[in-house]
This record gives sequence, C-alpha cells and structure tokens, in this order.
Amino acid sequence: MFGFPSLRCFLPRCTMGVYFLACPLLAQEPLLENEQQTQAQSFAQCVVGLQQKALSAGISTNTVETILGQARYLAKILEYDRNQPEFVQTFPGYFSARVNDWRINKGREMLAKHKDFLAKLTQEYGVPGHYLVAFWGLETNFGNYKGKMPIIDSLTTLACDERRSKFFSAELMQALRLLERENLAVSDMVGSWAGAMGHTQFMPTAYLTYARDGDGDGKMDLWNSELDALASAANFLKALGWQAGFRWGREVLIPNNFDYQLAGKSNVQALSFWREKGITEVGNIALNNSDLPAALVVPAGHTGPAFLIYHNFEVILRWNNSEYYGIAVGQLADQIAGKGPLSKHLPDLPQYTLLEMQQFQQKLNDLGFDVGKPDGILGPATRQGVRAFQASKRLIADGYPSKETVESVMSETSTDTAL
Ligand code: CA
Repeated sequence: MFGFPSLRCFLPRCTMGVYFLACPLLAQEPLLENEQQTQAQSFAQCVVGLQQKALSAGISTNTVETILGQARYLAKILEYDRNQPEFVQTFPGYFSARVNDWRINKGREMLAKHKDFLAKLTQEYGVPGHYLVAFWGLETNFGNYKGKMPIIDSLTTLACDERRSKFFSAELMQALRLLERENLAVSDMVGSWAGAMGHTQFMPTAYLTYARDGDGDGKMDLWNSELDALASAANFLKALGWQAGFRWGREVLIPNNFDYQLAGKSNVQALSFWREKGITEVGNIALNNSDLPAALVVPAGHTGPAFLIYHNFEVILRWNNSEYYGIAVGQLADQIAGKGPLSKHLPDLPQYTLLEMQQFQQKLNDLGFDVGKPDGILGPATRQGVRAFQASKRLIADGYPSKETVESVMSETSTDTAL
C-alpha cells in the first residue's frame, strides 16, 4: 500500500504474545514428534497444578478428578489465539459487516417478540430493550452462533499456555464453579474458543456473577433461554454502570474548519462546549446547551461520520473494549428502535496490513510522537500520536492514518537508529 524499505521483525522476541505479530511465519511451523511429546508432558503437569489450585479453591474432588482431570489439550485453540488478521480493520469495513439490514430487521423482530419482558427489564435495570437486543445481535446473531468449542478443554489449554495463563486459570476455576452450581453437563458447556458462552457470550466470571433467571425456571441457562440471556445482559450492563435515561451518544455534523485536535475519547467536555464549536445533531438541529459530559470520535477520519459519545458508551466498552464495537452497538440499537441509517457516507479507506500499521506506529514513536507499543491496532493512543503528527505538518489533525498522512510519516527522516 505504501513504500516500506524492508519487511523485518522490529521486535526481537518472536515466540509469544504481541511480539509474535511481527513474525507470523515463524509460528506456523509444525511441531516435531519429540516436541509434541514434551508438550503433552508439560500439559499433563500443568493440569496437575490446576487440579491442586481447584481443590484449594473449593471445587469438589469429584469435579477435579472427573472433569478437570479429563481435560484435553486442543492445539487449535492456540492457533486461534495466535491467529491475527492480515489487514487492519477499518471502521467502514467493521461497521457495514455488523450494522446491516438483516441484523436491524431481525432485531426489530426480537424487540417485538420480547416487548413486554424487555419493558420489565428496563424498569428493573434501567437499560432500554433495543440496547439489549443490539448486544444479543452483535454477540451471536440472536443466538444463531453461540460457538461449539468445549469450554473446559479450551480454558485448560489457554491456562496452560504462558501468554495469558493467569487470566485463563482464573476463568477456568470459575467455569468449574459454574458447572457445579448450575449442575451442567461438561458436554453442554460449549462456546467460543476463548471461553465465552451462550446467547450473550459471557465469560465464566460474568456468567457466575451476573447471570439471571429471566424465565423463572430456577436455572440460569444462557445457552437455551432467551429470557435468561436478556435479563443477564441487563443485569451485567447495570453492574457495569449503565446510566438509566441516557443515550449511548449520537451521530453529529462537524462544521468546516473544525479543529480536529479536539477529537478523541479522552477529551471529555460539556455538550455546551461542542455546541459552541458549531457541532450539531444530524439535520442541523442544535445540541442541548447542557453540561452533559461528551467526547467526539471520528473513527474513519474527517471524511467519515462523527459521533458524540456519552457515559453509556464507556459502559459498552466495559463489555467489549473497542470503539468500533461501541458505535456498532449504539447505532444498531438506534436503528432497531426505528431511527434511520448514518447520515454520512462511509468513506473508501486504504487497507493496511498489520505489519504496515506496526511499522507506521514504530516510525511515529521514532519521530517522537508516542503511540505506545506498535501493536498494529488503531486505538486511542495511535490516534493521539497521529493527531500530534498531523498538527505538526498542518494536515487536518483527525488522528486518522490517511494515505497522505502515512506517506508523510514514512518519508520523514528518523533520528532514532536503535532498531
Ligand atoms: Ca432460567
């Protein structure tokens, strides 16, 4: 897409974690037979350690022996864990794949189907039904795809892998607790490769802590009960801090000559501040002159749509920490509730490979525009660094790596030759 001098691993360790991203080819080499034996032995040892941990965490001897003791090592789980997309996802690509006619129509159908129950949930938890339905639609296509990986095997495999061992060991203990509490068959405990379960894709800790019995049958069954899943989502969002009576945010219009350095999730200002800057609601409706805290995000740069986000957007990100996800939930919820599509056309943006994005990030760091670890992800830190670079070059400082911005960065002479 743009000229890079060479494809090199700019981080020295290529065996695990994000460092591995820079050297994907090295990871795909098959294991030799003796390596497989060593792996089987170390997995068996790891399981013994996890069994001791489970016993001291109060899991019954029977579960520890018959369930955890039988856990299988699944090599493909680690392949999923290591697998990274070749290209950096753009907002238009992400959004149009998720907020589509099928989901909106199906969401409206589900909103009508569960109307009375959702009204009760809104009363009790403060979260409107169209948001609950939007989460459900984005997580599993309203239960059409809940994942079929065996949860105990998956979590045990991930717990015995060094990359995120601590997190997955803890989730495994919670999964065993859940299995005992809900009297589940291990074969019914299926989900995503990373351990998320049921209609709303709850991790074991979330399931154990926030699941609710929506249909009143005495069980909390997120696999088979839509009402349990919706009640659990409402309870979870309330616990995450959902503010009743407020929206997630909204699409807004930006005036010409706007200073895009004001954009970014961390620059929270009163709604009246944005009003003074000339931002309006879609249809040129004036913003309320209120002190409601709001930040501006422009996920596809100044040629794409802009959004003012409120407190509940942050709550959505506590469910899944991705701005794209937050906007997709908010927009899907709005459209399920009857609002129209985005007013602004989604721009056609350049597609960068992960490696190109990492090299771009590294170059910004070398030039003194801190974007954090070069992880190939276009997150808030990268956008902040890009904005600072753009401002220094008198480009429109929207934090988006447009073709012009990337070419400008990559043609700069770096003073840092350490790498
Ligand atoms: Ca139930």
